Amino acid sequence: MNKKNVLGRLVAIVAVAAGLSFVSSNQASAKIVTESDGSGAQIQTSILANTVSSASDINATGSASLTPASKRWKSSTITYKISSGSSYYKSVWKTAVSRWNKSGVIDLVPTKGKADITLSTANAKSSTNGTVGITYSSYYNNSTIHSLKVMASAKSYVYRNVASRYKYSKAERAHVAEHELGHALGLQHNVGKASVMYYATRSQSVSKPDVNGLKQSYR
Ligand SMILES: [Zn+2]
Repeated sequence: MNKKNVLGRLVAIVAVAAGLSFVSSNQASAKIVTESDGSGAQIQTSILANTVSSASDINATGSASLTPASKRWKSSTITYKISSGSSYYKSVWKTAVSRWNKSGVIDLVPTKGKADITLSTANAKSSTNGTVGITYSSYYNNSTIHSLKVMASAKSYVYRNVASRYKYSKAERAHVAEHELGHALGLQHNVGKASVMYYATRSQSVSKPDVNGLKQSYR
């Protein structure tokens, strides 16, 4: 086996856990449904380009020019809180927030109170499965806007130990943060690598297909 194949096998594929659980709601008769989206770590972008999986493997559908969505917030003004204690990761998350705000479609505003979106970090239990970030989100089961579920809460994490294991730079960790924040805004995976919502995030930032997807959701 040549070196390229060895590295190819090390490229981790994201596992999207569609775990559903019901929690109590403060809205009469509404149930809040919780689910999670992970993003895969890439060892090297150039290697991944040779080992790309089929769309069905990565749980992405639709056109590469329009990042799909399954959920959205009720309003395009959305509150967030960074709960990571380190200044390094505060800066990573602030970069991600400003890249989505630059879209001009949504307005993420910081709050000290109860936030719609919580941005954090954690160490993955196993750093070897290649999931470098994850977002848990919940939505109301009794309302939709433009056929999208209306979100009730979201919490995104960058896995510090996985990012370190795969030697992600700070800029690359910000790309992971952007990807997870994309899920927290209701976006799903894009089939194309020119989207920050491609399932395995390393070198891509928020781009036109992602802004198009957001415009479609929050129109
Ligand atoms: Zn993802």
